[in-house]
Amino acid sequence: MSSTHQYAVIVVGGGVAGTTTALSLAREGIPVCVLERTQYNQWRPGETLSPLAHAELLRLGVPLPESGEDFIPSHGIEAAWGSEHPQFHSFMTNPYGGGWHMDRQRFDALLAWHAEEHQVPILRLTSAVHVERGPGSWHVHASSPSGELALTCELVVDATGRASSIARQCGVRRNKVDALCSVSVVLAQPAGMEQTLLVESTPLGWWYTAPLPGQRVIVSLLSDADLLALAGALRPSGWRELLSATRYIRERVGTPPEELRLHVRPCETSSLEHSGGERWLAVGDAASGLDPLSSGGILEALRSARRAAEALGATLGGDGTAPLHYAEAQASEFARYLEARLGHYAIERRWPDEPFWRRRMEEPTATAA
Ligand SMILES: Cc1cc2nc3c(=O)[nH]c(=O)nc-3n(C[C@H](O)[C@H](O)[C@H](O)COP(=O)(O)OP(=O)(O)OC[C@H]3O[C@@H](n4cnc5c(N)ncnc54)[C@H](O)[C@@H]3O)c2cc1C
Repeated sequence: MSSTHQYAVIVVGGGVAGTTTALSLAREGIPVCVLERTQYNQWRPGETLSPLAHAELLRLGVPLPESGEDFIPSHGIEAAWGSEHPQFHSFMTNPYGGGWHMDRQRFDALLAWHAEEHQVPILRLTSAVHVERGPGSWHVHASSPSGELALTCELVVDATGRASSIARQCGVRRNKVDALCSVSVVLAQPAGMEQTLLVESTPLGWWYTAPLPGQRVIVSLLSDADLLALAGALRPSGWRELLSATRYIRERVGTPPEELRLHVRPCETSSLEHSGGERWLAVGDAASGLDPLSSGGILEALRSARRAAEALGATLGGDGTAPLHYAEAQASEFARYLEARLGHYAIERRWPDEPFWRRRMEEPTATAA
């Protein structure tokens, strides 16, 4: 059984980028709907919100988080990176103050709730399976708990994260410059644990740990997918052994329990060849995926959503070139980010012969993702 619905804009993907694009459009009175395949009830990576995100949230009318059950204030980053001893980089001089450590599922669900408050339908447990471009409209076919849905819209937004499944269906290639992958574990927080983000580099790659609400802590190892497999990091026993070879991360989180649940997520630095074209745009990770070292993926998702909403509004107003200008701006942002990434990795020079570090000393070359 299939039913038909019509909107000016359909956003596929209800993560940060998708819900905030929709929220911006709804605030301009543009009819928009979001399709989200989950119910925000599964673990999501990305727990540290940059202080710079404050300005984006305020612009959206989303109140700044208050410390409490879901948000822990973040005053800076401690990093043993390029040196034996950790250095503390304080957020004190940041004009927006500190950042936050948060439960990412809850944050994404909170943004979805704000969009719903602005009358945006968020269709949960609804996956877009196929899109077709017609002469003046798109047909989006989706599967939902009540059966198949057929939706039509003038413009479509790809907010599906690194899968960028809508752009790929339109034949747009995604290029990657590395094969970074994360292996994360959520543990109970040891009593009295320091409440800062801690980063530690090792010959294999780098680790981070950050406090999570609910007296939990996340511990992640990042390296290239092939190197993680070779080192045995994709098995709980191998991951545990590698953790025990760290110095500061191990000290902070203690010995993990016997039973470990590993969350493995590809997080290669990658971007679409073009993040916009005729009557479509990609936002957030769907447009460009950053290395988690930047702790800037959420901020970039919020910023690209703002730029995308402006371009979508202009397109609906008759400016057919707006998606192309949006795509050019995204490409320039990504080029600037690649330079910054090279600079960050250049600081760590202790293991120039280890494959992970050697690969990051070279100018990045793009291959198909
Ligand atoms: C290990 C790790 C640590 C990170 N740490 C940080 C950090 O500390 N700070 C930070 O700022 N960033 C961090 N990031 C990056 C950050 O998580 C991402 O940049 C951010 O989630 C991008 O948001 P998004 O909305 O673009 O994509 P996503 O969060 O991937 O959301 C995509 C959404 O689309 C939905 N979807 C996908 N396909 C479909 C479909 N066909 N139909 C319907 N729905 C669909 C998904 O369910 C999901 O809700 C980290 C990433 C990783 C992997």
